[in-house]
Amino acid sequence: MELDGKVAMVTGAGSGIGKAAALRLARAGAKVAALDHTEESARKTAEKIRGLGGAAIALAADVSDAAAMQAAYERVGREWGRLDVVFANAGINGVWASLEDLTPEEWAKTLTVNLTGTFLTVKYALSLLKERGGSVIITSSVNGTRIFSNAGASAYSSSKAGQVAFAKMAALELAKHRIRVNVICPGWIKTEIEDSTEKRDLEEIQEPIEFPEGPVPLTDGGPGTAAQVADLVLFLASDAAAHITGTEVWIDGAQSLLQG
Ligand code: NAD
Repeated sequence: MELDGKVAMVTGAGSGIGKAAALRLARAGAKVAALDHTEESARKTAEKIRGLGGAAIALAADVSDAAAMQAAYERVGREWGRLDVVFANAGINGVWASLEDLTPEEWAKTLTVNLTGTFLTVKYALSLLKERGGSVIITSSVNGTRIFSNAGASAYSSSKAGQVAFAKMAALELAKHRIRVNVICPGWIKTEIEDSTEKRDLEEIQEPIEFPEGPVPLTDGGPGTAAQVADLVLFLASDAAAHITGTEVWIDGAQSLLQG
């Protein structure tokens, strides 16, 4: 699963799953464009990669800003002249609240970052990706694909379900260009995602179900790690996954089978 000479774009590379994947892809030999909301968080990841002897550039952009994403890919083109892997991973939990409480602006924010951001991340990659073919990996979630019992997560789950449909449409449309598109659906992973989460009055709409031993069967209840997700990203990015496109891969220690 070597990526020597290849170039990868990773969004949300400043933290959590994106940071772990950026490091994993770099250790496999890829040059990495580490993109995040802020210059500082992108730079930290890029510096870490360079500290390990890899090649990286830091890009600051909001994935839901079309002009900023276009400019980010232009920079990748100028820097390395090619693109092989895109990990469309940046996302937020946003506001989790009842349908009556959730405002249209809060709904739009989650959909814009998570779903429109994914579209823009893929759209502006295409002129570079089409030159040689490549691999796109999109981070969806168990929410919206297998789990529908997390009360208040309607905007988040809708954005994550939308990513799966988008990936399948893109996989078919782009197959002729030898571009593969797959979706990963993590369960509970230990990251900084709670920082982008606001939960309001969920006890009012929650069904009274509890998992006293924790929700992840494979780990006796605890979360998975970003490094485990990064290993899956590397597999899907590599030629070891050469015939895999248009599919979801759940990575959740059977959490979604229990919780549903
Ligand atoms: P995280 O908060 O640790 O990392 C997310 C990164 O994305 C941050 O660095 C943040 O600055 C960046 N980001 C957020 N909005 C952005 C924007 N508009 N433009 C550019 N960058 C932006 O969270 P994480 O858990 O690593 O989340 C990564 C992805 O994994 C998300 O799509 C999330 O929905 C998904 N996910 C996470 C879990 C989990 O349990 N942690 C489970 C399922 C899916």
